[in-house]
Amino acid sequence: MWLDKIQQEKKQMYLASNKIDKIVAQGDMSGLELLMHQGRWEECLQLAEKQGGEFLNTYLMKFAKAHLQQGQFKETARALTRFNSPAIPQMLPVYKTIAIECLAAVNEIELTILREMLQKLVKNLEYGDKKAAFIEFHKYLMVTHLILLKNECQRKNLDRVSAALCTSLLRYTNIIRADKAFLDAGEANRKVGANDMAYIFFNRYIDLYDAIEDPDNNGISDNTDFEDTDVPSPYDIALPEKNLISPSERDEIRDWVLQINMEGVGGSLPTRVNEYTNTEIYEAALVDPNSNTSWEPCIVSGYPLVKSQAIQCKFCNMGAIRDHWNDYIAVFQNCPWCNSMQTQY
Ligand SMILES: [Zn+2]
Repeated sequence: MWLDKIQQEKKQMYLASNKIDKIVAQGDMSGLELLMHQGRWEECLQLAEKQGGEFLNTYLMKFAKAHLQQGQFKETARALTRFNSPAIPQMLPVYKTIAIECLAAVNEIELTILREMLQKLVKNLEYGDKKAAFIEFHKYLMVTHLILLKNECQRKNLDRVSAALCTSLLRYTNIIRADKAFLDAGEANRKVGANDMAYIFFNRYIDLYDAIEDPDNNGISDNTDFEDTDVPSPYDIALPEKNLISPSERDEIRDWVLQINMEGVGGSLPTRVNEYTNTEIYEAALVDPNSNTSWEPCIVSGYPLVKSQAIQCKFCNMGAIRDHWNDYIAVFQNCPWCNSMQTQY
């Protein structure tokens, strides 16, 4: 009784002098609640961390809940990253929400923060027993990595790698902004003279453009160009509310598409031989739907790691396609996945 009274008095004293850390140090966790209600998250989380993982996780969850409700995805991602992205099951939906929102918004700063959060999370999941979660978040990490890399390569005019990156990203159009992905892929492939691809990607872009403009009259009726590829069906992708370019810019693309078609371009997507089955499949496919075979993506271009062309980073052992790796290393000198200094093969 007497001790309780002393504790209470001490608490009042600490409250009066705003020394909430002392309250928590006494083992009284109401101090954490108090900081939280006052919006003093920084202090709250730091103090919670000192009390141990469970307290930290509890208040990180509360932080995430409060901030996600207000659409503050990057702030939440930053906080989670600072505390090493704990891989606890109840937090996985939070990471997923952040990943989905940031990937749909395509803002480079947000994506950079997302990448850091996911790198730590995936590392934590790798050593746990949550295999399905590891696979899911590794995919989000790969997509984020490829988008950021695409921007970097475009700035350095690495055209061949950029075109491969844009083409690879089409595989994820049910996660990322689809119309932008097709527009980028059309432009990047046209730039390197891959006109068959450019033609097909621009065509899909124009279909999406019209569907965005007139959602009630969705004109995409035909998916034969992408049949047997791992590019998602147009019926599985979400359309943004607004188009990225003006009608006259769209008309320029349409004119190019018509003109190139008159010149005999625009048959079908290029193929490669599936090394396991000797059948032809779409050049950029990571999965062959007819044979259940699959490939990991190259960390430079996202293209399938076909055995005959694959090399590995000497530091992180992640795989890359030799030509894409050499193009990239000639300009950047470091592995895009682990950042270690690397040389050409
Ligand atoms: Zn590496």
